[in-house]
Amino acid sequence: MKQRLQGAGMTSRRTRERMVSRLREQGITNGKVLAVMAETPRHVFVDEALESRAYEDNALPIGHNQTISQPYIVAKMTELLLESGPLGKVLEIGTGCGYQTAILAKLVDQVYSVERIAPLMKKARDLLWELDIKTVGFKHSDGGWGWPEHAPFEGILAAAAPAEIPEALLQQLAVGGVLVMPVGREGKQTLHRVVRTENGFVDEVIEPVTFVPFLSGVAS
Ligand code: SAH
Repeated sequence: MKQRLQGAGMTSRRTRERMVSRLREQGITNGKVLAVMAETPRHVFVDEALESRAYEDNALPIGHNQTISQPYIVAKMTELLLESGPLGKVLEIGTGCGYQTAILAKLVDQVYSVERIAPLMKKARDLLWELDIKTVGFKHSDGGWGWPEHAPFEGILAAAAPAEIPEALLQQLAVGGVLVMPVGREGKQTLHRVVRTENGFVDEVIEPVTFVPFLSGVAS
C-alpha cells in the first residue's frame, strides 16, 4: 500500500493535476472539490493491473459487475451536492470502491455509506482506514431503505440509478437538504438534484448520465 501511494509516473500528483485541468475544461468550478481530487490517490481504489488508467476520464471495473465512477461524474455530483454551502451529515448509497466516499469525507463533517455487496463494502472500509479517513460509517444494506438511525441528512448522494427516487430517501432528507442521484432505466438515465423545502421538493434535471442499476436486496 505504502508503495502504491508513493508511485511515480502515471500515479503521481502531476497526473492528478492533469485530471483536474480536464475537469475544469469540462465545467467543474468548485475549488474545494478540485483541490480534494488533486490530492486523493485514485489509483489505489482500482486493481493494480488497471492502475495506469485510473486518471483517465472513464469508469473502470472494480469487480462484482460494478464500476468506479468516472472522475467527471464524481466531481459533478460532489459539486452539485455542495452548491448551497457546506454540509454536516451526508448519506452515500453505493460505496463501491470507496473513491467517491473518500472525496466526500474530506468535504463534509460525516459520511454514512451504504453498499449492498458485502466484499466491496469491506474492501472500501479497510482502504479508507489505511488512507487515514476515519469519519465514515459503513453499512452492508440495501440503500433503498436509507439509514434511518442517522437521518435526517443534509446531503444524500447515490451512485446507482433506480427507476424512481426511493421514498425513504426523500423522507430522510433534512429540510434545506440536497439529494443528488441518477434516475431512470438503462439508456434513459438523467442526473437529478432535489432540494427539500418547507413545502415539498424541488427536482431539477441536470444532464443525461450512465450508471449501473440501483438493485434491491443485499448480496454477500
Ligand atoms: N461511487 C462508487 C460507485 C460504484 S458503482 C465508486 O466510484 O466506486 C455503484 C455501486 O452501487 C455498486 O457498488 C453497487 O453494488 C451499489 N448499489 C446498487 N444498488 C444499491 C442499493 N440498492 N443499495 C446499496 N448499494 C447499491
